[in-house]
Amino acid sequence: MEDCTKESPFIIAIDGPAGSGKTTTAKALASALGFIYVDTGAMYRAVALFAQQNGVSIEDREAICALLPDVDIQLERIGGEQHTLLGGENVEAHIRTQEMSKAASDISAIPCVREAMVDLQRRAGQGGAGAILEGRDIGTVVFPDSPCKVFLVADALTRAQRRKLQLEEKGIPADLETIRSEIEERDRNDSAREHSPLRKAPDAIEVETTNTTIDEQVSMILSLVRRRLDQFRKGNMP
Ligand code: C5P
Repeated sequence: MEDCTKESPFIIAIDGPAGSGKTTTAKALASALGFIYVDTGAMYRAVALFAQQNGVSIEDREAICALLPDVDIQLERIGGEQHTLLGGENVEAHIRTQEMSKAASDISAIPCVREAMVDLQRRAGQGGAGAILEGRDIGTVVFPDSPCKVFLVADALTRAQRRKLQLEEKGIPADLETIRSEIEERDRNDSAREHSPLRKAPDAIEVETTNTTIDEQVSMILSLVRRRLDQFRKGNMP
């Protein structure tokens, strides 16, 4: 378990539902602070892709657990962007599909998968002055002692509109209602599962982003994080 003493890296936990702005916020913070950035959702997506590549159904929990020792996931920075490597192959384009969003949500409910990913995530957070991890359970399970936890929320329509725009920027046509129902289904799945459900940690700061621009959101969270970092460095945490 991570021990957030002054010698440990400063871990920033960013949690929230799909489309709440975690990725944009976490990347902007990592670049402003020079911290490691870890997209934990990419790890669940990569496991789901690995299962598909090996012809293993997500329903077959035993077979999924048996696959885990062979999963080789690495997150690498290529040209300023984080890319997910599976068995050394860049699978970024394959894991971002709607099909993999759903498969990742389903596979992430399996306890052995969560245990393996949490272990990987804790290791990924080490090795620098600080790290920013985004996900669903960073503040509650992965780094419960994080001195800086942010929980992002926004209404489902706003999140669907943001996701639609992101897909269209990548040249992928997208239907707003389909995205909205997919997001709502994932919210339900992620919040209702027995193990490590999506939940705000009691000491997380909730940031409502429905009516803020991404620039406003980033600058608000960055100043909040800088205050925490300053207190942390002075050994003056509340
Ligand atoms: O963040 P992203 O949308 O890429 O995550 C894909 C899925 O992975 C989520 O819907 C969620 O079910 C799962 N996930 C999780 N815990 C995390 C990160 C993602 O269960 N820390």
